Amino acid sequence: MIPTLVFILGLIFGSFMNVLIARLPDGVSIVTPSSSCPACASKIRFYDNIPLLSFILLRGKCRNCGEKISLKYPLVEFVTAFLFLSVYIKIGFSLILIKYLVFVFLLLTAAFTDLFTAFDEKYECGIIPDEISIGGIGAGLILSFFFNPGIINSVIGAAAGFLILWVPSFVYYILTKKEGMGGGDLKLFAMIGAFLGFKPLFFILFFSSLAGVIVGLPFIVWKKSRNFPIPFGPFISLATIFYIFYGNRIIDIYLNKMYL
Ligand SMILES: [Zn+2]
Repeated sequence: MIPTLVFILGLIFGSFMNVLIARLPDGVSIVTPSSSCPACASKIRFYDNIPLLSFILLRGKCRNCGEKISLKYPLVEFVTAFLFLSVYIKIGFSLILIKYLVFVFLLLTAAFTDLFTAFDEKYECGIIPDEISIGGIGAGLILSFFFNPGIINSVIGAAAGFLILWVPSFVYYILTKKEGMGGGDLKLFAMIGAFLGFKPLFFILFFSSLAGVIVGLPFIVWKKSRNFPIPFGPFISLATIFYIFYGNRIIDIYLNKMYL
């Protein structure tokens, strides 16, 4: 019963996330107007706006004009619901579940917005909206009054998160006179520090860079251009989610190997 409810909650939040992803990069109100078809601008009725279900019932087409509905929408809804359920299975039904659901929601919103705007010609590069990153720093600090890592660790984590990326991006800029990382990445990392404290930051930086290099290298080689803007935000979010589920176990194994 509870797992089903958590999954449905994830679908609802995933649907809301689609609104944030579509509107925050343009600075448009997320409350009004209600959603409409991007092709024909007809209003989407409430019964055509049920997460996942409506997409399946409408066979992925707008009821009014028949234009294909982007697969992005059900994908975002499903991934959010799947992760909400996974976090519930990992943490169980306790108050701290609230903190981790909020955290995962912010990480996914940042990742998807960065990814979709990076591949949208409307935008010059990927965008991580301040409402998510800076708003997320605020949420992380407030939640740390009640939960781990505690408010002091949270403040230190936010500052460390910003600095840990600012230092390499500043060095990169000095050496190449090019912006290597967007300011959005720095603020996203500060948000992660606010939620988790500073200790996991090196783990997350390591695995996000590793994933970024593995995925990015073929692009760089094939395109023969380093100007291809690969967004870093999705890798940061992915590495953080990886940490939430497997971080402690991997760090344990690593430390055991070192001190055997
Ligand atoms: Zn339409």
